[in-house]
Amino acid sequence: MPSAQLQTELDERAAQGLLRQRRTLETPQTPHIIVDGKPYLAFSSNDYLGLANHPQLIAALQQGAQQWGVGAGAAHLVNGHFTPHHQLEQRLAAFVGKPAALLFSTGYMANLGVVQALAGKGDTVYADKLNHASLNDAMLLSRATVQRYRHGDLAQLDALLAKQQSGSKLVITDAVFSMDGDLAPLPGLLALCERHDAWLLVDDAHGFGVLGQYGRGTLSHFGLGSPRLILMGTLGKAAGVSGAFVAAEQVVIDSLVNHAHSYVYTTASPPALAVALLESMTLIEQGDALRAHLQRLIVKLRTGLNDLPWQLMPSDTAIQPLLVGDNKQALTLSAGLRERGIWVAAIRPPTVPQGTARLRITLSAAHTEGDVQRLIEALHALAGKSEIRAATDRTPRPAGEGERG
Ligand SMILES: *Cc1c(COP(=O)(O)O)cnc(C)c1O
Repeated sequence: MPSAQLQTELDERAAQGLLRQRRTLETPQTPHIIVDGKPYLAFSSNDYLGLANHPQLIAALQQGAQQWGVGAGAAHLVNGHFTPHHQLEQRLAAFVGKPAALLFSTGYMANLGVVQALAGKGDTVYADKLNHASLNDAMLLSRATVQRYRHGDLAQLDALLAKQQSGSKLVITDAVFSMDGDLAPLPGLLALCERHDAWLLVDDAHGFGVLGQYGRGTLSHFGLGSPRLILMGTLGKAAGVSGAFVAAEQVVIDSLVNHAHSYVYTTASPPALAVALLESMTLIEQGDALRAHLQRLIVKLRTGLNDLPWQLMPSDTAIQPLLVGDNKQALTLSAGLRERGIWVAAIRPPTVPQGTARLRITLSAAHTEGDVQRLIEALHALAGKSEIRAATDRTPRPAGEGERG
């Protein structure tokens, strides 16, 4: 594409209120950030337990670098697999109650690796329509046949699974939907996978560390265990560091080591990160007070926002999207909050379905009740401003039908 054409495409995006731009943080990731020299109270990170800037993790990373250096220097299968990687994998597997675990550099890469290793030509991948973009990309890369079912629609999935006569079957789903905050019907999904002999890959990016006993995640929340369950958890959200893991039966992990390109053909993440993550595991395990505080903030926010012209979407998790609908109105509302010193990102298509632009409010255990009160008051003040209100009176219900990614 010639550059003039690239520019035209960007201009069109801008005209639709869809241009994306980065903002540079001049402080660490905490609820209090500085951008362009101005302080903001932020409700946009996935640092649900407030660990990203935790002194114990900073100390562990420093000690890890002292002992293991900065870079892994090679892929895991060459000579980039270190003792801290090994220890972390064993600890993660035990924590989530699976026989084995495998570290990946990012959650995006873990999803690509699992789907590509378990499904190929002649196989079928079944995906919730609101899955994360990394799962969508993973199934396209795998070259398997792709079947997408309506958000949480077990009956439709059942019918699709029943039709398939040959090849292996893999169902993939977010556990906590990243832009909606609701939970996948995991008990029903697992029952369907048992009935139709399918694998179930659960992406717990937003549940790991937050939900379930000791923060073991969404599977623990539902009390689910099965050899056909494959769990992917990320380590850059509640765990506060970086990376991801897959936990499953030993034979699945051995297959990933042999076949997952995003594992085989990439440099291992620095072993010092694994040292920091071992410390993070301790904080997660001991984090009941953080999780209880986060739960109180969720209740406070939902109670405080129930009489706004915009609806909070149905969610009990730290992801609390405020549905606005129109792209530009979502940007206007986000800008209005920014003028009041509050940072909440507007999420627009194609990340979410057309007509469902929203403010994705995320809460963290690092927020105080006073922080949440400030957000509640600012949104009420903006709701009183007629020009913002006028264009959002037509706020739609969430479609639950759109494309993502
Ligand atoms: C963030 C996220 C990922 C990607 O994880 P990274 O470690 O950030 O690459 C995958 N799935 C879901 C649902 C996510 O929210």
